[in-house]
Amino acid sequence: MRATEPNPKDTPKDTLTAPGEGRLFIDGAWRDPVAGGWRDVVAPATGRVLARVAAGTPADIDVAVAAARRAFDTGPWPRLDVRERARILRRVADLVTERADELATVESLDVGKPITLSRYVDVAAVAGTFEYVTSLTHHLDGAVRATPLPAHAFTRREPVGVVAAITPFNFPLILSTSKFAPALLAGNTIVHKPAGDTPLSALLLARICHEAGLPDGVLNVVTGTGAECGDHLVTHPGIDKIAFTGSSGIGARVAALAGAHLTPMTAELGGNAGNLLFADADLERVLPSVIEAFVFNSGQFCMAGPRLLVERPLLRPVLDILALQVPRIPVGDPSDPATVMGPLVSEAQVERVESLVDGARAAGAEVLTGGARLERDGFFYPPTVLTGLPPDAPVVQEEVFGPVLTVQPFDTEEQAIALANSTGFGLAAGVQTGSIDRAHRVAARLRAGIVWVNGWALIDPGVPFGGVGRSGWGRESGPESLDAYTATKSVVMSLIPAATASDAGQEE
Ligand code: NAD
Repeated sequence: MRATEPNPKDTPKDTLTAPGEGRLFIDGAWRDPVAGGWRDVVAPATGRVLARVAAGTPADIDVAVAAARRAFDTGPWPRLDVRERARILRRVADLVTERADELATVESLDVGKPITLSRYVDVAAVAGTFEYVTSLTHHLDGAVRATPLPAHAFTRREPVGVVAAITPFNFPLILSTSKFAPALLAGNTIVHKPAGDTPLSALLLARICHEAGLPDGVLNVVTGTGAECGDHLVTHPGIDKIAFTGSSGIGARVAALAGAHLTPMTAELGGNAGNLLFADADLERVLPSVIEAFVFNSGQFCMAGPRLLVERPLLRPVLDILALQVPRIPVGDPSDPATVMGPLVSEAQVERVESLVDGARAAGAEVLTGGARLERDGFFYPPTVLTGLPPDAPVVQEEVFGPVLTVQPFDTEEQAIALANSTGFGLAAGVQTGSIDRAHRVAARLRAGIVWVNGWALIDPGVPFGGVGRSGWGRESGPESLDAYTATKSVVMSLIPAATASDAGQEE
């Protein structure tokens, strides 16, 4: 099926009753918002109202932070043995697996993701991450420190306290889990504010965590806007740590607020990865991943590969293959298992992509395929390939966050590395090459938190990811994920006997 043809299977989606009827999940119970407001959630595939959730306000944040504070200061969770916490998190993984279809359906309807993606990537990753983190209990051990002092010194790895978790619209389940799993294992409590456009699965996940045995107040969810609820949450005096994932612009604002309050923060921000395709690469092997790198999740992927940098002799052959293969990508109804790419999340997101592509076209870019929104209900934009652009074009330099690939040639390895590192973002990068020497050499020089060689989007809960530069700081996944949710305390116990101490006092 061609991307531009309407699909007869695209029937309008029914509305959905949000988990907890869209109320806030606070202190282990569903609660109406203090101010009593509600807002509509729109299905990206139809553009119509899908569900209704509470429009949280700062007053709800206050209630949620108070609950999380109580659960941390006087509740059982931080004081439980870590293996007991791990047992409950393993139960979360089991319940997520048992309820995979329900979670995947909610995520697919809310975000517009193809059901195959939400079921076998998003939900599978959530179960996998909760399962993986239970293997990290020994990373929370303290250590005895040898010292010449007449003392016994040891360290304790303690939870930091109440965590404000703020997540973006594109991978609601995965990105909340990448915060919840390590934060909870370490004994923290959480107030979560999901993205305004895609809040539904957060409510379902909170209910599952509670059913698995999380005590009341350990995980609280307030749905609401970033400007109102998010701002209030990150400046709340009851918060001990901010775990933020979102755009670099909002991340900078949150970092300024966090700085003013000296609240520690991790910042998982935007990306704009360069994917280097060298002439010695095995094209048959790597081209599917080159395409996946920009259409996966409709390009709304922080670690997408939207900038393909091709060694010049390959430029024309690669453009010819892309022109042939990209229009064949099945775009359409997310509930159809054959769909590879669904809609973008919102009208605003389509307009952003349109404006960057139209700007590139006006500046002389060649549009190889795609380049105009699809005429149908919902927020559909086809996979689009642009070439003939200068390296400083906005569509190259800025994060598009849509299914758009720019293709640019390079002549030398040095030039390729410089182009890849030219945007200031540094979340992911790729090296497609048949040379093991080049793979090592280039991977070491790319400014990015993760580099994929001969592939893309190989992601695992045991492998850390995170950014440098405009892409932020801190790492999620892997044992490193515990660093942001723990503080080391040293305990130094004097071994000076009482008599010796008083003798020393008399001599003075
Ligand atoms: P966004 O920055 O608009 O919003 C992210 C979250 O911040 C949302 O929950 C939003 O409500 C909240 N927010 C907005 N204003 C706020 C404020 N003033 N104070 C506190 N919170 C506020 O991002 P988005 O459009 O939802 O998501 C897309 C962006 O997220 C892209 O830039 C993408 O690259 C990035 N992202 C990064 C990663 C990563 O791991 N580095 C992962 C996914 C997405």
